[in-house]
Amino acid sequence: MTDYTTYMQQSNLIGGDWTGADSGKMIEVTNPATGAVIGTVPNCGADETHRAIAAAAEAFRDWSISDLGFRVQLLQDLHDALLDNQESLALLLTTEQGKPLFEAKGEIAISAGYIRWFAEEIRRAKGEIVPAPQAGRRLMVTRHPVGVVGAITPWNFPSSMLARKLGPALAAGCTVVAKPATATPYSGLAWGKLCEEVGFPAGVVNIVTGSARAIGGAIMESPTVRKVTFTGSTKIGKQLIRQSADTVKKVSMELGGNAPFIVFDDADLDAAVEGAMVAKFRNMGQTCVCTNRFYVQSGIHDAFVARLREATAALVVGNGAEEGVQQGPMIDMDAVEKVEEFIADATSKGAKIVEGGKRHGNGGTYFEPTVVTGATSEMQFATEEIFGPLAAVFRFESEEEAIEAANATEFGLAAYAYTRDVGRVFRLDQGLDYGLIGINAGLITTVEAPFGGLKQSGMGKEGGSQGLDDYLETKYLCVAGL
Ligand code: ADP
Repeated sequence: MTDYTTYMQQSNLIGGDWTGADSGKMIEVTNPATGAVIGTVPNCGADETHRAIAAAAEAFRDWSISDLGFRVQLLQDLHDALLDNQESLALLLTTEQGKPLFEAKGEIAISAGYIRWFAEEIRRAKGEIVPAPQAGRRLMVTRHPVGVVGAITPWNFPSSMLARKLGPALAAGCTVVAKPATATPYSGLAWGKLCEEVGFPAGVVNIVTGSARAIGGAIMESPTVRKVTFTGSTKIGKQLIRQSADTVKKVSMELGGNAPFIVFDDADLDAAVEGAMVAKFRNMGQTCVCTNRFYVQSGIHDAFVARLREATAALVVGNGAEEGVQQGPMIDMDAVEKVEEFIADATSKGAKIVEGGKRHGNGGTYFEPTVVTGATSEMQFATEEIFGPLAAVFRFESEEEAIEAANATEFGLAAYAYTRDVGRVFRLDQGLDYGLIGINAGLITTVEAPFGGLKQSGMGKEGGSQGLDDYLETKYLCVAGL
């Protein structure tokens, strides 16, 4: 039987040592499927974080100038270690986060994929030789690791969000101080154990859990930390961007989304419903690329709603660790209450619940997968991120109207559209203000392509060849007097 405790580290990794908080204080971690406490992690603060930063700075001296082949080999070994332990890491993820096991396995696989991708990409991180305007000079553009990186990650993809940051950072020759989300610290701490096992030198990867404000504050105020990479809410992201000003850090931000999913009359209905289900209900709707607003053209509206309702009603809700479960519990009670608030707001403004709509009979933080129709731009979810299993369906008539409505938000992360009109595909690419656009696909994240939002959804890209850029500094070298 798979044992989820194999990589469950209940201490922090600082400078190669597994340690507790100076105060001795611990934080309990619960399984959202059962409410049971599964373990504890240290409640660290600023002092421990400053020590982790110092350890990362010390390790950076050798790591940043180490043989590229050495770093690539370690990353390949890390990739293999993840896949060798996929079952146990996935079960650990499901146990602390709630998502169905098949999704957790997929997350571990994509985590490994990011590590391998950046091990490959770093070998192509070339500089340039620029034609010099004068004889006797050679102009070169060279690339160097930015330095110590602070990585702050959320609870919804506790493994892969760190993979996207650790992969490029370690490949580039940076060292890292990571702070996983308090609700799901074990998938983050597991990275420390795996890195240690495959032989990363002490201090290259440091992982601290505890007070977000204290740890985040220490990372942000430190002049030693040259870059901060954050995935989380737009609210906290803005705060971190402000805090970065004092030390002029590089920041990359993966923030909130409010994805539109547009179904045109000419769509393949089967494909649209299949895409809708994955784009809405994956991870119980708790992803930043989850559909927030379905815009469905009049001619196909009723047929689409009927099929969406049927598919939603068929979802199997339960403990994600159990076979066949497609929807686990939500992360916490605040998340449940927020979905209830969206539903109450919408129905008070005329929306109709056609499926679900309330807490699930399983109790705890389980919620019924829900579909509402008659959505309008006055409703709260038109502009706010739902982050839950609630599908809101708006009706539209023309392409122009759909694009305008889709863009009417401060966010610009992911957008989806179903159509078979090739001209329209390119009009959508031009018209939709989104960093990721899926045409006839509801799940498009892949290690090979750049993931990142426009507008207030963030800055910087993760994955793709672009995912390395933020971890490399560019220098211009002029050699004269030749
Ligand atoms: P989410 O709603 O996805 O939890 P948050 O933005 O609240 O999004 O959290 C994302 C990550 O940012 C978590 O690791 C959280 O602990 C951390 N975080 C929250 N507040 C702060 C803060 N003030 N400074 C630094 N990190 C923070």
